[in-house]
Amino acid sequence: MKLLQAKLDKYQEPQKAKAAGIYPYFRAISSEQDPEVIINGRKVMMFGSNCYTGLVNHPKVKEAAIAAIKKYGTGCAGSPFLNGTLDIHKELEARLAAYVGKEDAMIYSTGFEVNLGVVSTLTGREDYILFDEQDHASIIDGRRLSFSQALKYKHNDMESLEAQLKKCDPSKVKLIVTDGVFSMEGDVANLPEIVRLAKKYDASVMVDEAHGIGVFGKGGRGVCNHFGVTEDVDLIMGTFSKSFASLGGFIACDKEITNFLRHHSRSYIFTASITPASTAAVMAALDIMESEPQIQEHLWDITNYALDGFREMGCEIGHTSTPIIPLYIRDNYKTFEVTRDLLEEGVFVNPVVSPAVAPHDTLIRFSLMATHTKDQVTVALEKIQKVFKKHGIIK
Ligand code: PMP
Repeated sequence: MKLLQAKLDKYQEPQKAKAAGIYPYFRAISSEQDPEVIINGRKVMMFGSNCYTGLVNHPKVKEAAIAAIKKYGTGCAGSPFLNGTLDIHKELEARLAAYVGKEDAMIYSTGFEVNLGVVSTLTGREDYILFDEQDHASIIDGRRLSFSQALKYKHNDMESLEAQLKKCDPSKVKLIVTDGVFSMEGDVANLPEIVRLAKKYDASVMVDEAHGIGVFGKGGRGVCNHFGVTEDVDLIMGTFSKSFASLGGFIACDKEITNFLRHHSRSYIFTASITPASTAAVMAALDIMESEPQIQEHLWDITNYALDGFREMGCEIGHTSTPIIPLYIRDNYKTFEVTRDLLEEGVFVNPVVSPAVAPHDTLIRFSLMATHTKDQVTVALEKIQKVFKKHGIIK
């Protein structure tokens, strides 16, 4: 216990940030999650959500969740493997498979557990996982659990991917795993080239559609649909915690793969299945995403408007072309200061600092929801311009 205490005593970073009045985490929201939310009794505009469709407060989604609680209760009290499978889980799996264009789908309790459980189960000691250096932490942890050989390639760099593929033993399993839309930088994976290389080297491909679904493709089906590569991508992963306005995740692929995963994937088998409310919310969100294309159209309208606005302002926004807009600050402390000042101005954004990104790549992550109005985006841009000028980030 003394050793643990000594270790904890050394860890002073959060306390230092709190003392300096710039600690930016765990800011509690005490209202509905609309484009405007209440924090510390004050109304602020939310530009930090991952719910790109903005459906998290949609009356139909809320009603569906309430109806499911009334019918099934509040939890499932067990693994899907044993007592935790409801008829609506099966129904949702069938709908998700049809939606993304695969034979079957399986629901996990979170998106993190999908990546953990799929990546680690499909590859073993002698196999290879080839992953983008900017892939999500859950993919990296899934790789660690698999004991497979990790071959990291440079961010969205196809020459680097090919160089890694050349190193692999041709007789072993090679799984290329990539985010479809990168979660912090907002840029899009070069899927056409990834599937071409996969065919050339007999590799399998898994795409994480966490930030692609609801944003790209017909009815929000994601980047695989957008690029027309669904057939060539072996596994499509999605989460319910973003555009689907709920909690949970899924993998969609051939039945042969789901059959294997259902009987071997530990983060699927040894945890309870998602709640009836979460399940019904996804189903209702899916109905809306498929039948109301104007939501996606508006999201793109305000996204392009914001991208143009930030560029005109002279902000450094990297290679994004999506509702995830990184505003590079390139300094940990300044990133925290800017986050605090923007909240004071009534704009909630997320700070992204090391170790999530390299210390010289720190950024403010500005993200849009289809429920934002153009006027709200205009006001946010004005506030950001004011705060960035104050800190000498733009002229
Ligand atoms: N993949 C990516 C790319 C993500 O950004 C996230 C969540 N931030 C996840 C997976 C995990 O999803 P969940 O929130 O459902 O655990």
